[in-house]
Amino acid sequence: MTATTNLCDNPLLDFSGLPRFDVIAPTDVQPAISKLLEDCRALIARLTADGAATTWNDFAAALADGLEPLSRAWGIVGHLHAVKDVPEWRDAYNRMLPDVSRFYAEVGQNLKLFAGYQAIAASSEYAKLSPARQRIVDNEIRDFRLAGAALPDDLKPRFQAISEELSQLSARFSENLLDATNAFSELVTDEAELAGLPEDARQAAREAAEKEGKSGWKFTLHMPSYMPVMQYADSRRLRAAMYRAYATRAAEFGPGELDNAPLIRQILLLRREEAQLLGYANFAEVSLVPKMAESLPQVLEFLRDLSVKARASAEQDVADLRDFARSELQLEPMEAWDVAYVSEKLLQERYAFSEQEVKQYFTEDNVLAGLFKVVETLFGVRLKADSAPVWHDDVRFFRIETPAGELLGQFYLDLYARDTKRGGAWMDEAIARRRLHHGLTAGDGIQKPVAYLNCNFSRPVGTKDGQARPATFTHDEVITLFHETGHGLHHLLTRVDELGVAGIHGVEWDAVELPSQFMENYCWEWSVVQGMSGHVDTGQPLPRTLFDKMLAARNFLSGMQTLRQIEFSLFDLLLHSDFDPAGERSLLDLLSEVRREVAVLVPPEWHRFPNSFAHIFAGGYAAGYYSYKWAEVLSADCYGAFEEAGNPFDRNTGQHFLNTILSVGGSRPAIENFRAFRGRDPQVDALLRHSGMTAG
Ligand SMILES: [Zn+2]
Repeated sequence: MTATTNLCDNPLLDFSGLPRFDVIAPTDVQPAISKLLEDCRALIARLTADGAATTWNDFAAALADGLEPLSRAWGIVGHLHAVKDVPEWRDAYNRMLPDVSRFYAEVGQNLKLFAGYQAIAASSEYAKLSPARQRIVDNEIRDFRLAGAALPDDLKPRFQAISEELSQLSARFSENLLDATNAFSELVTDEAELAGLPEDARQAAREAAEKEGKSGWKFTLHMPSYMPVMQYADSRRLRAAMYRAYATRAAEFGPGELDNAPLIRQILLLRREEAQLLGYANFAEVSLVPKMAESLPQVLEFLRDLSVKARASAEQDVADLRDFARSELQLEPMEAWDVAYVSEKLLQERYAFSEQEVKQYFTEDNVLAGLFKVVETLFGVRLKADSAPVWHDDVRFFRIETPAGELLGQFYLDLYARDTKRGGAWMDEAIARRRLHHGLTAGDGIQKPVAYLNCNFSRPVGTKDGQARPATFTHDEVITLFHETGHGLHHLLTRVDELGVAGIHGVEWDAVELPSQFMENYCWEWSVVQGMSGHVDTGQPLPRTLFDKMLAARNFLSGMQTLRQIEFSLFDLLLHSDFDPAGERSLLDLLSEVRREVAVLVPPEWHRFPNSFAHIFAGGYAAGYYSYKWAEVLSADCYGAFEEAGNPFDRNTGQHFLNTILSVGGSRPAIENFRAFRGRDPQVDALLRHSGMTAG
C-alpha cells in the first residue's frame, strides 16, 4: 500500500465528477482534509479582511464556492466511515473529526462573516437579489443571531458560558440515563417464567447470563431485551418488575448521582435565560424561529385540535384493550405493564399474518421496478441503470433523466446490511445541485446532484434451480425504501441554483420529512403493491386477502398512539414556555395537567417519564417534539390532493407537487410551498382518515 504523497494525485481533491471510490484510500484523508481546511481558512481571512467587498458575488457566493470542496470531501469520508467501517477508515475519519468540527464551530462564531451577511442585507443590492439568495442571507443572519452573535459584548461571555454548560448538562443527562439503564438486570432462574417469550429472546437472555458465568436468563432495560418481555412474557411478575425499573430510570428512587431531576431543572433554567438574552420570552419561541411552525399558539392549537379529533378513536382503542384483557386474558384491571402484552395478543387475534409470508412476495427487482414506475409516472422523469466507481460490490447506481434524456441527477443504492455498515436507513448527499460560478462551467453550467441511499436489508440467500435467489424484503423494508427515496428525490429533483437552499438545504426541520413520508403512502396503494409483488418461487402477486390484513393492522391502536405523541409534544412545549423551573408547580404537576387534558391511559404515579425524555433534554428536539406529528400531517395532506384527484398517479397533481414542493427545496418557506401546492393551510383530516380515525 502506498500513501498518496502528491496532493495533485489525491483523489479526494478531485472535484471534476463523481467520487472516485475505486481509488480513494484512508491514507488520502489526512493530507486532503488538512489542505482543504487550510484553503477554507485562507479564503475566510481574505473575505473578511478590512476593506473586502461584501457583495453577493464577492462575499456570499465566494464563501459558498470556497467551502464546498471541504464539505464534499469530508462528506465522502463520512460516508465511507458509515458504510465501510473497517479500522483503517474509522481511524482516518476519527483522526480528522476534531479538526473539521472545530473549523465549522469557528465559522458559526465568526463575527466578521456575520457582519458580511448583514452588510449585504443592508445594501441596495439586497432588494435585487433573487428570492433564493435573499433567503440564504436571511438564514445566515438568523443562525448567527441565534448563536448569540448579535448580543452586546458585555452579554456574550454569559451566553457562551450558558451554551457550554448546556452541552455538558445534556451529555450528563444521556450518561446518567445509560448508566441507570445498565444498572438494572433481572435474572430469571425458573424456566417456567419464560413462557410466551420467542426463542430468539430466550436465547439472547441465556447468552447474556452465560457471559457473566451465571445460570438462568438475564434480561436488561435495553430495547432488544426489554421489549420482547413487555410484549410476550406471560409472567405478569416479570413484566411488572421490568416496567417499574424502566419507568423509574435516572430518578430519585435510584442512586442520587444518577438522578436526572436536578439536571432537568438546571437545563430549563439555562434555556430560559438563554432565550431571554436573545430577546425572547421563553425557549419555545427560540426553538420555533427556524422552523416551519409560525408561532407557539399555532402549534399548541394544532396539537389540541388533533387530540380532540383523535380522542374517540383512542378511547375505543383503550376500551377494546380492556375488554380483551378481561375476557380473554383474565387481566383486570389492565395495568401499565400489561398494555404492550395485551396489545400484541389482540393484534394476533385480529389480524394474524406472517411477516415472513409477506416477505416472499417482495423481490428486489420487482420492488425497484415498482418504485421507479411510481416516480416516473408521478414526476415525468426516467430512471435508468448507470455505472460509477462504488465502495462495495453490493452497490447499484442509477440516473434520473428528463424524457428527452437530459441528466437531472444520479444516486447510489446500497441496500444490504454488512458488518461494516452503520445500522438503519438514510439518505445523504454526495454532490448538491448548483449553478457554477467564477468561470467554472460544465455543460449547461449546472452541477448535477448525486445522492446516497443506504438501507440495511437482508442480502440474497440460497439458490433455486442453480440460480441465486433474489433478495426479498418485508413490507416494512419496502416502506423504508420508499421513504429514503422520497428524501433522495427532494435532493435530486431540485431546480434551485443556489447551494445554500438547493434540495434539502435550508428546509425547516419540521418540514423535511414531508417528501419521505409522502412516498410511503404508495406502499399502501393496492395497484402499486400488486404490481411490485411477485412470489419469489411462483411469481404470483400478493393475495388481496393478505393485503387487507396488512391494511387493518396498519392502523391498529393508532388513536391511542396519536394521543401519546400529543401528550409528549404538549408537555415539551409547555415545559419550555408556560413553566417556571424555579416556581412552586413541579414538572410532574405540569405532566399531570397535560395528561388530564389529553391522555387516555395514565401511567402509575411513580412513573418518572421526564427523567428519561432524552429527545428534549439530550437530543435536538427541545420544544420540537411536535415535529413528528406536524410532518405527518403535511405529508398526509399532500397525499390527500391525489386522493381528491381520484388517482394516486394523477399527472397534473404530481407535476404540481414537483413544482411547488419537491423542486423548490429550501428556497422558499415551507409553509409557502405547502400553500402553493394545496391552496390553503395544512389540515389534519387526511392523516385522521389514513389512520382510520375519521368519526362516522
Ligand atoms: Zn426520514
